[in-house]
Amino acid sequence: MKKNKTVAIVGAGIVGLSCALWLQKKGFTAILIDPEQPGSGTSSGNACTIADYGCIPVNSPDIFRRLPSLLFSNDSPLTVNHRYALTHLPWLLKFLFNCRPSRVAKITESLGAILQKSYQGLNPLLELSDSQHLMSQRGCMYVYKTQAEYESARVNNEIRRQHGSEYIELDRTDIQRLEPGIKPIFERGILFESTSQTLNPQSLCTRYFNSFLKNKGQYVSHRVNETIADGDMVKLQLDNAQSLVVNHVVIAAGAFSKQIKGTGTGQLPLDTERGYHIQYSNLQAKVNRPISWNQAGFYATPMNEGLRIAGTVEIAGYNPKKNQQNLDYLARKAGEMFDLPSQPDQEWLGFRPTLPDALPVIGHSSESKHILLAFGHQHLGLTLSGITGKLISELVNSEPLSLDIAAFSPDRFH
Ligand SMILES: Cc1cc2nc3c(=O)[nH]c(=O)nc-3n(C[C@H](O)[C@H](O)[C@H](O)COP(=O)(O)OP(=O)(O)OC[C@H]3O[C@@H](n4cnc5c(N)ncnc54)[C@H](O)[C@@H]3O)c2cc1C
Repeated sequence: MKKNKTVAIVGAGIVGLSCALWLQKKGFTAILIDPEQPGSGTSSGNACTIADYGCIPVNSPDIFRRLPSLLFSNDSPLTVNHRYALTHLPWLLKFLFNCRPSRVAKITESLGAILQKSYQGLNPLLELSDSQHLMSQRGCMYVYKTQAEYESARVNNEIRRQHGSEYIELDRTDIQRLEPGIKPIFERGILFESTSQTLNPQSLCTRYFNSFLKNKGQYVSHRVNETIADGDMVKLQLDNAQSLVVNHVVIAAGAFSKQIKGTGTGQLPLDTERGYHIQYSNLQAKVNRPISWNQAGFYATPMNEGLRIAGTVEIAGYNPKKNQQNLDYLARKAGEMFDLPSQPDQEWLGFRPTLPDALPVIGHSSESKHILLAFGHQHLGLTLSGITGKLISELVNSEPLSLDIAAFSPDRFH
């Protein structure tokens, strides 16, 4: 009887919360464990887009040509701590291995397939938690400064279209008509008309969490140090020396998932792509929808509270100290795009959980079929949270899956 089965979900970011709600929907007793306020980690500070058009991975065949300028330019959305990179060469080599055209094509296929199911996972949770008011569907615009930039993005944009993300093409006049708050510096653009966004990802997580509690979910405000599989049960060792024994465990601790012992994650090449946002209070009217200046590596997103400029990638590990260079870069680039005050009202650093092939890990741990893994959603965790939760609930419930998840297997790095 599944009603008597208990599942512990480790990590209450958007992915863990979505797993918890889906498991409750299937009739399981769910326990969420996280020492921090649910949703307050990386899930709180993202660019808010449901990026179902996001099938093009960061891995790219032209990385070999672009790497020198990306690494050494002062005006690049990518920063790398060279000492960290040198001590993490195996991860970087795996990343470069996945930049070969044949691998990129396969990754794109796999991402495209799961992205097409985003709303199948998301919509039931929005309904369940009564969160529709935290969503807006006004599309998402990509902008290009020059015709040449636009042309070089054409191949990837066509691939997005082939994966179901229709867009309309824009010229300078269209961009100004749709987004009069942007300075007229962009020559071309595209608009994914059906894209939606959340107006506040932290509020969305809080709604999910309240819905979880209302459905008799239990919350444990502690860190999990270790899991110990024992036959049909799993014991969780908490940081207060207490333990819990449950039927299944879902590891959804984002970029920190590898730090939990006994989960079979030790051999997985999980690392973090650090990302930043700056926010300008009450300036949300500058844009009508999320705008991606892709070449500059960020989104400008209207939120309930203000205008959020979110993006950049920094390879520098888990050090919580912000790198002022990334924050200054975002402020400088945002200033090229909008008239803004000299200082933002908020600066934030988050830790994207990233495997070197840009695909998440969704599946059973090699340690035990009672331990499930759900992390590594890189730039797409908000978008893929719902479908990940749905798939995890199907695995726990031993029912047919909504999607072939072979590409996301934890065993793929063996
Ligand atoms: C700048 C930026 C912009 C982004 N924009 C977008 C976007 O527009 N669209 C999109 O889809 N995605 C976006 N992303 C990616 C997205 O935010 C992440 O993929 C997503 O938040 C990851 O969610 P998570 O639940 O896996 O991890 P997290 O939100 O990091 O949650 C993990 C939780 O696990 C807890 N935890 C850690 N260790 C333990 C432990 N031992 N025991 C118990 N709990 C533990 C932590 O406290 C935390 O609460 C963006 C990311 C960044 C940085």
